[in-house]
Amino acid sequence: MKTTRDQLFKMPKIELHAHIGGSIRESTIIELINKKNKDPEAIKQILDSCRIDPKQSKEVGRRNLNECFKMFEVIHDLTSTDVTVMTRITKETIEDYADDNVIYLELRTTPRAIGQNGSKYDYVTHVIKGIEDYYQSHPDSPIIVRLLLTIDRQKSLQEAKENIELAHTYPSKYIVGMDFSGNPFKGPFSNFQHLIKEAREKHKLPFSIHMGEVLNDDEVLLIISTKPERVGHAVCWQSESTRDEFIRSQIPLEVCLSSNHCTTTSREEGDHPFAEYAKTTNRSGMHMCLNCDDKGIFQTTTTDEYLMAADDFSLSVEEFCEMQADMANYIFDKESIEGVRSQIIKYRDSLSSHVC
Ligand SMILES: [Zn+2]
Repeated sequence: MKTTRDQLFKMPKIELHAHIGGSIRESTIIELINKKNKDPEAIKQILDSCRIDPKQSKEVGRRNLNECFKMFEVIHDLTSTDVTVMTRITKETIEDYADDNVIYLELRTTPRAIGQNGSKYDYVTHVIKGIEDYYQSHPDSPIIVRLLLTIDRQKSLQEAKENIELAHTYPSKYIVGMDFSGNPFKGPFSNFQHLIKEAREKHKLPFSIHMGEVLNDDEVLLIISTKPERVGHAVCWQSESTRDEFIRSQIPLEVCLSSNHCTTTSREEGDHPFAEYAKTTNRSGMHMCLNCDDKGIFQTTTTDEYLMAADDFSLSVEEFCEMQADMANYIFDKESIEGVRSQIIKYRDSLSSHVC
């Protein structure tokens, strides 16, 4: 029986790879641009250059990695003078995921000093206010929201140190770990390896590392050897043996199909570790879930990511439930594991009781 969108929409979902900036609603971008710049031609030019209109996007092809980074620059610019904007974007992002039946959401963001007297601490405070505002206006919402602070590989080691320090000293139950990401053409992982090692050992901070976004097997092998708690993407391999090494490592993987479709040109469909997951019957040791990465930029939802996988790889909703129930073991808020798992399993069981 074909997996339907309705089944996947109703399925309780975990979303472990969501950048707050890239999750911004298009309507919010337009509103913020309008506030900043009253010239409609200039607004049109910015939006056109980022191909944010999906109809236009279809005509001219997929947004490539460089165009995505251009889009990130636009978003960065919109959020660079007024830190309160981050509160709004965070709250709206949670609303969108909750509306999509996501029950556990890990957001991630790079702390930045915004405005004249702003600090990274203020930035994090405003993001956390977005989470609190959400719960205040939706007191019965079942979604569990947690936050990872990002080390941007494009920035300095000093910046990375500050972000690690913030993650382990900021007094909030919402911060549960760290992310390593940014432009993969800049800032090699090897520069940051010792800091990440120290943060994991000394402060017990779990890490999710962006890996294999571009062809660079040396870096991929180095990341695998550090055994991070999770990695994201893992789609570009110079040799099959590197991909096999990754699969053997059993490191949990945050799969981002839409993002990979848009930004990766060097990959054949069959090279994706998710294709390996889909075609094999013995999946033990392969830990994965599907994610949006930047739902605003790629104009997707977690449900749509599962629908794409169901269509491309012929997986059933029961298989997706099992995949997620397994991946729930690797969420960074360990206290939420059992609750999240049991909701997913309950949904899977309800499907089989309907068939009977
Ligand atoms: Zn990402």
